[in-house]
Amino acid sequence: MDVKTFLQEVKNNKISIEKNTKDILDEAERLNKKQNFFNTICKDFALKQAGFIEKNRKGKVAGLPITVKDCICVKGVESRAGSRILKGYKPTFNATVVQRLVDEGAIIIGKTSQDEFGFGSFSTNTDNIPKNPYDEARSCGGSSGGAGGFSAVTQYTHVALAESTGGSIVNPASFCGVVGFCPTYGVISRYGLIDYANSLDKIGLIGKTIEDVKIVFDVIKGHDKKDATSLDKGLNKDNGTKKIGVIKESLNVDAKIKDLILKKLNESKIPYDYISLPLTERYGVACYYLIAMSEASTNLAKFCGLRYGFEKEISGDFNEYFSSVRGEGFGKEAKRRIILGTFARMAGFRDAYYLKAMKVRTRIINEYKTLFKKYDLLVSPTMPIIAPRFDEIERLTPAENYMMDVLTVGPNLAGLPHISINTGFVEKMPVGIMFIADHLNEEKLFRIGAMVEK
Ligand code: GLN
Repeated sequence: MDVKTFLQEVKNNKISIEKNTKDILDEAERLNKKQNFFNTICKDFALKQAGFIEKNRKGKVAGLPITVKDCICVKGVESRAGSRILKGYKPTFNATVVQRLVDEGAIIIGKTSQDEFGFGSFSTNTDNIPKNPYDEARSCGGSSGGAGGFSAVTQYTHVALAESTGGSIVNPASFCGVVGFCPTYGVISRYGLIDYANSLDKIGLIGKTIEDVKIVFDVIKGHDKKDATSLDKGLNKDNGTKKIGVIKESLNVDAKIKDLILKKLNESKIPYDYISLPLTERYGVACYYLIAMSEASTNLAKFCGLRYGFEKEISGDFNEYFSSVRGEGFGKEAKRRIILGTFARMAGFRDAYYLKAMKVRTRIINEYKTLFKKYDLLVSPTMPIIAPRFDEIERLTPAENYMMDVLTVGPNLAGLPHISINTGFVEKMPVGIMFIADHLNEEKLFRIGAMVEK
């Protein structure tokens, strides 16, 4: 059942919220035994909330089951961002997005699995690796892999809160055949998000349809004084779509993926031109990883076994204790990023790497902005490949792994809203098409997306 119908049925007393909540929790537990979509399923917490909403069916999303990516804080529920170092950390507050949903009657059912702190594209950089619903030997994508996988298989009405720094929402949406939506930077509050890279992080949504996602977006968006980067501005009105640009370089992918994307566009009778983003194509990945790792390495400094989560018997001096906690608590990819990010920001290298990347980022933003003077939307495949098998992922070098984000880092560096929608299947695996709009033009994105969705 879609979200709109579900909410209507709740209003008309046709759905027992307690039973529906119990059913989706049972399903989550059953699926989790094999597919690892959840780090935590909050049964008691959800049932308590359901009991309350059952009696008092108020709120814009009364009774709606919501899953929350592990890196978004839920009061009293372990929120460890997929990392060992935050094991046992139970926030004393709700992230703004969670609070806004709970205030409107939503029911939080669990924390979905992800790459540690969002570091990855396949949700394999963690101890709880979600498996693709279409083929369990393959990845759900990442880093919001659990959110993508569960959204694809659940029999119940549900929307997932996810997060993207460089593509972590649209990537799993593409690999799992669902809708992934990432807003303009600043439109959804980041308060209560366990940061990866602050200048890039956005909270967004994954769901079965654009309309489902949009209903939840309307509840969580908007200014939040607790987040200094939150925008105090409304979205632009949708003034129609005159021109769409297909990003030429993005079609250098598997021919079957390319054909599917063009077929979908032709079928939906949306006229388009071929356009080019040479700078983004050439420097996007390098620029993204330098900035993302630089910010990540500073963000991770606070995890030292004293304030949050994982701790040990204190022994030795500060350095010895911190090293042993961080040595055990962080996974391999997190350590790689701490080292590379610290290096990029170091005196003597800063100008050559971090500051250079910041300059390139500005030029990439300008490259998009110039195109948006002429085009309303840009289109590309979401990912250059279908969901890879775990044995294929193991053989990738870190640099090959990072290159998988070549199509998604651009809109993330520029803070542009984007959406991935399923366009069909290649080798029985889902393939996503991605639309990118100018800042604050999410309305346009939803409308054009809906045309393709049909
Ligand atoms: N794959 C990218 C990375 O590892 C993006 C991850 C994300 O968006 N959280 O940085």
